[in-house]
Amino acid sequence: MDVVIKKAGRISELPPYLFAEIDRRKREALARGVDLIDLGVGDPDIPTPAKVVEKLIEAASKPINHRYPNSPGLMEFRQAVANWYKQRFGVTLDPAKEVLSLIGSKEGIANMAAAFVDPGDLVLVPSPCYPVYPVGTSFNGGKNYFLPLTKENHFLPDLDTIPADVARRAKMLWINYPNNPTAAVAEKDFFARVVEFALRYDVIVCHDAAYTEIAFDGYRPMSFLEVEGAREVSIEFHSLSKTFNMTGWRIGMAVGNPELVSGLAQVKSNVDSGVFQAVQEAAIEALRLGDEIVEPARKIYQERRDILVSGLRRVGLQCETPRATFYVWVGVPGGLKSAEFAAKLLDEAGVIATPGNGFGEPGEGYIRLTLCVDRERLKEVTERIQRVRF
Ligand SMILES: *Cc1c(COP(=O)(O)O)cnc(C)c1O
Repeated sequence: MDVVIKKAGRISELPPYLFAEIDRRKREALARGVDLIDLGVGDPDIPTPAKVVEKLIEAASKPINHRYPNSPGLMEFRQAVANWYKQRFGVTLDPAKEVLSLIGSKEGIANMAAAFVDPGDLVLVPSPCYPVYPVGTSFNGGKNYFLPLTKENHFLPDLDTIPADVARRAKMLWINYPNNPTAAVAEKDFFARVVEFALRYDVIVCHDAAYTEIAFDGYRPMSFLEVEGAREVSIEFHSLSKTFNMTGWRIGMAVGNPELVSGLAQVKSNVDSGVFQAVQEAAIEALRLGDEIVEPARKIYQERRDILVSGLRRVGLQCETPRATFYVWVGVPGGLKSAEFAAKLLDEAGVIATPGNGFGEPGEGYIRLTLCVDRERLKEVTERIQRVRF
């Protein structure tokens, strides 16, 4: 008799994977030998700075680093995070109680709900968004209440439209600025309104700050913790991935309210054993070097942004000029659906774009393009799109 293998409800109830159709067409095109330009994935093509790689090599050869790390992270790593927050944002953190290492911020984001969301609890989630926020909620039996991000509200959730009973029931709120996928940024007045809302309704604020260092024209995005009162209500997720081109290394951090940090640490100490210490040593070096190694990447992305945005406008597509992130959020032309336009770009131009609704229904009407290919290829993108009929 065959064993019946039935997956848990939390897996079978995952929303349909909206990128499946694009993935299928992409594989077909690659099999036909099409020269694809992939503006789909948000993963830096620029290598990790050499000084950081050298530090890893040195640290990897030390036997002390071959043993289990301690789950919250080396005190030296947490101190380096605190130092970086101090000099970058003017935010003082206690490394022992207010800083936690993560195996990439995705891991911490996913585990946050395990620490604070009980079955049936409501979590306020922007839409479109990084998909891990709502998945974390549903894996832990919570319910997502989506806050649409639209052009009209400058891609900032409109807290005033949240019904009072929903706000009172809400346990947690996710925000993410500079934003993936819309490339929107938030100013201090918005963050201050979020703090006020959180204090009024007793809601935990989780700010995903993955892109604060990828910003242009001298703009320096702020940490949520810079806002008065934020530490009472919030935890901020940050990462070395985008800042230092270290997506494959898996290291990030959660900082902020000590109760929130310790709750997350409790979950983590039960399910993981921390980040390879050699990676933590390399991360300390990256944080210490800071802008010295980030600035060259910023320049590269800014130049690419200018090439892509001006090219897109030339071929009649509409987008804002991003002030931060390596994404461009492009309006879909001619009454097409996001998925139809993405399919057209793939079939007729060999350009891979992500349909905006894949990040949530309010993303319908947009595609997301990334700046993670070099300038010559980006110039070619607009030449190719010129030939597409829309
Ligand atoms: C890339 C990304 C992350 C996660 O990055 P890690 O590599 O897991 O640190 C988190 N949030 C957003 C919005 C991202 O785009």
